[in-house]
Amino acid sequence: MKPELFPDDLRSSILPEPGGDLRYDCLKCGGSFPPDALHYVCPECGGLLLLEDHAEGRLRERDGAWWRRLFDYRLMSNDQALRGVFCYHEFLAPIIPLEDVVYLGEAHTPAVKAPPPLEREVGASFFVKLDGLNPSASFKDRGMAAALSFVKYLARVGGRTGIMAVCASTGDTSAAAALYSASLGGTVKAAVLLPRGYVTPQQLSQPLGAGAGVFELPGVFDDCMKVVEKLSEDYDVVLLNSKNPWRVLGQESYAFEVAQQFDWETGDLMLFVPVGNAGNITAVLGGLMKLRRAGVIDRLPRVTAVQSVRANPVFNYYRSPPEARSYEPVKVRPSVAQAAMIGDPVSFPRLARLAALYEEERGPGSFQAVEVTEQEIMDSMILANRSGLTVCTQGGESLAGLRAALAQGLIAPGETAVLDSTAHALKFMEFQNAYFRGDLAGDYGVRSRPENVNSPREVDLPGIALPAQGKVLTPEERAVFTDRAARAIADALGLKPRA
Ligand SMILES: *Cc1c(COP(=O)(O)O)cnc(C)c1O
Ligand SMILES: [Zn+2]
Repeated sequence: MKPELFPDDLRSSILPEPGGDLRYDCLKCGGSFPPDALHYVCPECGGLLLLEDHAEGRLRERDGAWWRRLFDYRLMSNDQALRGVFCYHEFLAPIIPLEDVVYLGEAHTPAVKAPPPLEREVGASFFVKLDGLNPSASFKDRGMAAALSFVKYLARVGGRTGIMAVCASTGDTSAAAALYSASLGGTVKAAVLLPRGYVTPQQLSQPLGAGAGVFELPGVFDDCMKVVEKLSEDYDVVLLNSKNPWRVLGQESYAFEVAQQFDWETGDLMLFVPVGNAGNITAVLGGLMKLRRAGVIDRLPRVTAVQSVRANPVFNYYRSPPEARSYEPVKVRPSVAQAAMIGDPVSFPRLARLAALYEEERGPGSFQAVEVTEQEIMDSMILANRSGLTVCTQGGESLAGLRAALAQGLIAPGETAVLDSTAHALKFMEFQNAYFRGDLAGDYGVRSRPENVNSPREVDLPGIALPAQGKVLTPEERAVFTDRAARAIADALGLKPRA
């Protein structure tokens, strides 16, 4: 819709001007630093940073109803800078001018109501937010859009080119980092560090295809993360892991979209989020509290973190009552929820801080954690995809989390679950195919349920001429082939001839 057609009270606000007072706030020493450079850790004490808008009070100069209308109308703008996460510019990264916004088609993914047969099978009414429908096929694009927009802005203002951006990855961060860096031509080049054998072939192809430097290292993600942290300490590189607080800001858009997709009525929702490095769950909690403070939503939803029993440091922390909690990294074991296979989540201090604030505001039990088995993850992924959805193993983990919450009575009658399917099914087909082949028993302890297994069937046509490369069938041969093949398939399917 053209700007002049927006309602009078919104027209001049549809295209936002830079504003706000974003600052890096240190979670450890309480220091606060201006956003005139890229920091990943506190320049004074090395602590973890969050970006906070010190002028957030200005958002309350408008009431919640005005913001809700603005964001609803803004969805109709065709301005590229507002099509993605910057639809929520004032709440997300208000210092970035629209001219620097990098948009590659991310965000505004659908929240799809589970098809009725799936709801009946699970025993609950729920929605799945298909974040695999982002350009690099995972939610990481949200954070990367914000981080690379800031890099682009800094590069323009500082006249810099040839910036090297690096990340460690369980597969999806590197795909997103490579894609968004590639869109900036010579300004930014990406190099990604991957744990050898722990990313899928699709995930490995993505940064290669985007022209990034790709390095495979022995070990698991946590080992790669240490190397990339060392690189960012000793060399002039841009770190694109979610340790970079700009990533977390971009991922807050997930929370804003859920609120908007439920007409800003979030009080009876329960969000399920698979947790690895804990960047995404931090963003979800932070984004929701921001909306609440500005009166855009009245009541916070409840939020459940989901982890595999094989990579469960966050669940372990929250399984104890508040006074008995202590954080211990875990040694991960192979998990089909491979993108979340992290034993020492970098954002844990952020999560602990925000989850405590969340519970202060919304009450005890408004943030909770559940753990699920590898078997439950695979069976849930396959069930969802046999029911009309396209979820990855981590989406299966979210669904397994909902089933665990139902079984444990952790979800109240009248609450509606919203599951984060964090990547596209196609990135994780390796696991589905291994399940079908019966190959997940050894490393993952997953048994293939026969009723879930599917495989292609050969059509056996002995004694006739068959089509082949470089061979032309005569009309008679073609008629015989078509007839026999159709009959063989009809027999296999038990079809009845037309009367
Ligand atoms: C990164 C990732 C996760 C875990 O998110 P964190 O922010 O690391 O907790 C979950 N699912 C997928 C598909 C991912 O790529
Ligand atoms: Zn500090």
